[in-house]
Amino acid sequence: MRAVVCHSPGSLALEERPEASRGAEEVLIAIRRVGICGTDYHIYEGSHPYLEYPRIIGHELSGEVLETPRGTALRPNQRVVVNPYVSCGACIACRRGKPNCCVRIAVLGVHRDGGLCERISVPERNLYPAGSLTFDEAASVEFLSIGAHAVSRSGLKPGDRTLVIGAGPIGLGVALFAGLSGGDTTVIDLDPDRLAFATQAGIAGRSILADDRTDEQVGAATDGEGFDIVFDATGNRGSMEDAIRHVAHGGSLVLVSVVNEDIAFSDPELHKRETTVLGSRNALRADFERVMAAIAEKQVPLQRLLTHRTRLAGAAADIARWATDKRGLVKALVEIE
Ligand SMILES: [Zn+2]
Ligand SMILES: [Zn+2]
Repeated sequence: MRAVVCHSPGSLALEERPEASRGAEEVLIAIRRVGICGTDYHIYEGSHPYLEYPRIIGHELSGEVLETPRGTALRPNQRVVVNPYVSCGACIACRRGKPNCCVRIAVLGVHRDGGLCERISVPERNLYPAGSLTFDEAASVEFLSIGAHAVSRSGLKPGDRTLVIGAGPIGLGVALFAGLSGGDTTVIDLDPDRLAFATQAGIAGRSILADDRTDEQVGAATDGEGFDIVFDATGNRGSMEDAIRHVAHGGSLVLVSVVNEDIAFSDPELHKRETTVLGSRNALRADFERVMAAIAEKQVPLQRLLTHRTRLAGAAADIARWATDKRGLVKALVEIE
């Protein structure tokens, strides 16, 4: 079968790989759509913290069931959403219902070969029936689930003044689900085009450009009090460290993105606010289901988010190009027929 393989940083190619076969207790599926995200570009660029090459990339997946184990509820030809976080089921996190941060987590397309290929075998518990969702919609569930999970972690209540720093696809997902949960949402970014997109698509109520007037505008937006909940989705150390200044006294800071280095906070700044600092990693089944329901109810402006599209044959060249040219790019999808 054909697969897009990243051999080493800077080297991405479509090649012939051995046909996928169904593993025990697994389901063989035909991949139909693959969303491309920051992680994939980082793998291509060689800036991913824990990745062994060569790797078939692709973790934002939808597909169609081909072959199932005995006694499963899934049927052949059924459309499915793939949860790419393969967990061990036995570690402390799994025992506590948090497979999203399993000690031995293996994310498809990162720790093991992913789905930018024709067929893949995955554990049955990692597949969710897509219901009325199209393949495009089903492949968009994973990246939005990261945002839905962060919002769930935050305990956001209707009316909470909410700031999302970073208006890339993950930040947009956070802002969208913060808004759907009743938050009064503001986004900050360095890029005025991304901010315009976020407000025009109805994803955020207000936007603030990250420049030397940011503090003034944060003050104006919050009566000088700061935000009840601040999410950082920048993947930038300076921004993560700085975010605490925008948190209201008694508020929370949720770190959605990850950087491969230490981050530090001023303890007086942290302490005087009695800040709650939370990490948010991946997503749970409940978050996937939340996103699937929101898409089915037409609460997600997916037609605006899915800006770029290619096919398996052209994917390697297009991904290499998008890695350096992200003008107008929010989310790219690869079609596999
Ligand atoms: Zn992703
Ligand atoms: Zn585990």
